[in-house]
Amino acid sequence: MVEAAVKAAKAAFPIWSSKSPLERSQILNKLADLIEHDLEAFAQAESKDQGKTITFARTVDIPRAVYNFRFFASSILHHTTECTEMPTMGCIHYTSRTPVGVAGLISPWNLPLYLLTWKIAPAIACGNTVVAKPSEMTSVTAWMMCKLLEKAGIPHGVVNVVFGTGSKAGEALVCHPDVPLISFTGSTLTAQRITEKSAPHCKQLSLELGGKNPAIIFDDADLTQCIPTTLRSSFANQGEICLCTSRIFVQRGIYNEFLKRFVAEAKKWKVGDPSDPTVDVGALISKEHLEKVRNYVKKAQAEGARVLCGEGVDSLALPAGNQKGYFMLPTVITEVKDESCCMQEEIFGPVTCVVAFDTEEEVIERANGVKYGLAATVWSSNVGRVHRVARRLQCGWVWTNCWLVRDLNLPFGGMKASGIGREGAKDSYEFFTEVKTITIKH
Ligand code: NAD
Repeated sequence: MVEAAVKAAKAAFPIWSSKSPLERSQILNKLADLIEHDLEAFAQAESKDQGKTITFARTVDIPRAVYNFRFFASSILHHTTECTEMPTMGCIHYTSRTPVGVAGLISPWNLPLYLLTWKIAPAIACGNTVVAKPSEMTSVTAWMMCKLLEKAGIPHGVVNVVFGTGSKAGEALVCHPDVPLISFTGSTLTAQRITEKSAPHCKQLSLELGGKNPAIIFDDADLTQCIPTTLRSSFANQGEICLCTSRIFVQRGIYNEFLKRFVAEAKKWKVGDPSDPTVDVGALISKEHLEKVRNYVKKAQAEGARVLCGEGVDSLALPAGNQKGYFMLPTVITEVKDESCCMQEEIFGPVTCVVAFDTEEEVIERANGVKYGLAATVWSSNVGRVHRVARRLQCGWVWTNCWLVRDLNLPFGGMKASGIGREGAKDSYEFFTEVKTITIKH
């Protein structure tokens, strides 16, 4: 299957890459319109496929997939290349960028269409053809998108979607000699294998991986803003977002007050039927994943930590039709040591740890004390402090006094085990094109 997809993508490359950016832009916009037209059907499918709430699928996943196409349809029209003059040598130099060829795109299950289109859109906007492999766990909306490609005017072979497991379809793509670049979003463990497997081919890699994101809350934070946002950053999409907060450091002066208010609000989050628009937390992706997340809570308890609400503490009352689903209450753990696996490993579920700190210096060191470096949130009304702390945190994005506010123009990606490379208007353009420098003597 991968072989046939790569063959089709290779055959389509000469025609697609020779289209002008404006022609490609118009086609991307058309695809965006078609997905938007079917937004409700896409949202329903995404919610059923993953277990995420219909509200999240309607307001985040699918609108963002539409926006991904619109964004790159626009940004591809505005890139410029560089030119320098060397008058004494009678030379000018300029750079020229061309699409690379067939791009291999591999995406995870947690934001299915959102993350898949965040790769397809820049790759084809730049003139590449693609073989995309969505997660085998959530591939319905990728299939629905395929049905719209022809209507949008995308020539046959430009976008090929292969459905299959990581070990078979994913690895075949990674090892294929005619796929010179791989853009991957998923776990750090899989990224290690992809790096290993692609090394003999010297492929270009972009790796967007896991996180263990801290929220740092200083005692001058505005808790009326901070508490609802930190609840969202901890539990949105069942905590199954790479950017979710899972370590909350609270300065000692407001620690007790924060904890009391945070737990009281967490208990109000409604868990249950994902198709109910009043539900805040849907089902986790699978039974295995639910067990894994629960085990983290059990391990923390065995180490002496305290669970203040959620798993094992409060009872989960599910509607009749959802009794067998993989649901879990938002869970808050405290009195947990920094070395604990709950504070070190990515849990990827509705579980967050809250701990106290005393000084700025101390919290920076503790926040940086994990192998990951994806994102962080800092809460303070001291302008100097937010700049100081943000600059010293080892992660690719720092939000201060907010969370998940994105400008797609700007570089996105992780430090340390959270990734290699950046995505964004300029970064994706550079990744999906090859540059050469041309010197002209006059
Ligand atoms: P995963 O690594 O298990 O799978 C991701 C994709 O890789 C899937 O399509 C899978 O089929 C494929 N795959 C698996 N093994 C492969 C192999 N050997 N070769 C090629 N492809 C292979 O990740 P997941 O469980 O689907 O997603 C959750 C992870 O993704 C979390 O760690 C989360 O933090 C991360 N994530 C990161 C970002 C980011 O932007 N940094 C965004 C979303 C999710």
